[in-house]
Amino acid sequence: MSRQRDSVLRELGLGPVWRLRSRPAEVAAAVPPSLTFTAPAAVAAPTVADDRAVSIAAMGWDELKATVAGCQACPLCKARKQAVLGVGDKEADWLFVGEGPGAEEDERGEPFVGQAGKLLDAMLAAIDLKRGDNVYIANAVKCRPPQNRTPEAEETAACWPFLERQIALLKPKLIVALGRPAAQTLLQGEVKISSARGRLFDFHGIPLIVTYHPAYLLRTLHDKAKAWEDLCFMRRSMRGL
Ligand code: URA
Repeated sequence: MSRQRDSVLRELGLGPVWRLRSRPAEVAAAVPPSLTFTAPAAVAAPTVADDRAVSIAAMGWDELKATVAGCQACPLCKARKQAVLGVGDKEADWLFVGEGPGAEEDERGEPFVGQAGKLLDAMLAAIDLKRGDNVYIANAVKCRPPQNRTPEAEETAACWPFLERQIALLKPKLIVALGRPAAQTLLQGEVKISSARGRLFDFHGIPLIVTYHPAYLLRTLHDKAKAWEDLCFMRRSMRGL
């Protein structure tokens, strides 16, 4: 193990004792039926929400950024300082999706720049990745939920066309959902991280992996070992693509 990886793992709280282990083949298990995508039922007439989604689905990056910045589609716009679209390499193979901006992200306009972001950067470094370099980071909602609460279903639904467009523009090779709200938004169903981690899901043809949110890991140190397993699984999965 290189000295650099040793120090990254120490920062993750894992120390040099953790070694890459191979996981059983069944980790790439089929997507449980409850987590597969089903096309929404056809609606009789287009609604305002449909029109909005159609228009967002045709946007390029600049228009998307401007539209997100001025978005008033849900109450989260009222308390935000600024909307936070995402950051990173627009040609990235890796897309990491979090929950929503916190206070520091709201202030700086960039995802994952607070304590959870520092841990995310360390997690990326552990598998030789770096923010902005073949990595793009986004959130399920682009505006800060008050008191950093979990976004409501209506809020993630209102923001969904933006994330969907980001994914369509990026065309990542692998999507990583950080935490339950991101996983549930992307997989459109109930997700339990403890049972979803270690599996390859499918997001319209793009492999998707679920892992713990860095903020959760800051509070729940004993699950950092599992996060390391997940990182190894991500790296193996990407290499296999
Ligand atoms: N937590 C998230 O889910 N996203 C951020 O951008 C910051 C903290």
